[in-house]
Amino acid sequence: HSSRKRLVAGNWKLNGSLDGNSRLLQELLVRPEMQAECDVLVCVPYVYLPQAVRILKGSAIAVGAQDVSVHAKGAYTGEVSAAMLADIGCRWVIVGHSERRQYHQESSAQVAAKVLAALDAGVTPIVCVGEQLADRQAGQEVCVVQDQLEPIKALGAQIVSRLVLAYEPVWAIGTGLTASPQQAQQMHQQIRAYMESDQVRILYGGSVKADNAAELFAMPDIDGALVGGASLDAQEFLRIVAA
Ligand code: PEP
Repeated sequence: HSSRKRLVAGNWKLNGSLDGNSRLLQELLVRPEMQAECDVLVCVPYVYLPQAVRILKGSAIAVGAQDVSVHAKGAYTGEVSAAMLADIGCRWVIVGHSERRQYHQESSAQVAAKVLAALDAGVTPIVCVGEQLADRQAGQEVCVVQDQLEPIKALGAQIVSRLVLAYEPVWAIGTGLTASPQQAQQMHQQIRAYMESDQVRILYGGSVKADNAAELFAMPDIDGALVGGASLDAQEFLRIVAA
């Protein structure tokens, strides 16, 4: 892993309530000592960002959003800009999650535009890529992931060094199927080689649990995890951070 600091990010997706979030975040705060060698953050629905920022203030746990507009301001009803995220103390954002690509037809070009919008505002993007099951069955997984990465790589080495990537095979998200540590490592190595960056952190995502985290994190090119379902359980999430 050389000098790359580990990162574990929770993705709450469309889950939460004021009461439930408060309980979950308080539970995470009980174990602050673990976070020294590892960046930890929770990516929450927009409306709960101020709540999460307030509760986690002064702690080692940062707050992220799950999407961001490509636009800075103007007539874009329903959108939230990167500057708005930064304004309320949110310094991270997931972009190009497979659920956004699938259900909102987000293209890799749009994802690249979101990366620039985020970095412009001082918000670090976590850029998700990953193949569908059919791609892997056809032996196309590396091509598919490289196609998704191409517009990001085209932004240049300076930009690439400032973002985080997440490899999330779509067939492993929320399915209980995890890529084997070897499958994940192989793809992470390919991604690193393609991006020509030793520095960029590459997270693995797809049914990461406390029980499989350690073996994934033992791989040389896996720098942490993007955790969906398991991030809704404080004890499970903390065990992943500990791993
Ligand atoms: C995700 O959606 O980023 C994810 C990895 O989900 P899960 O951990 O639930 O598979």
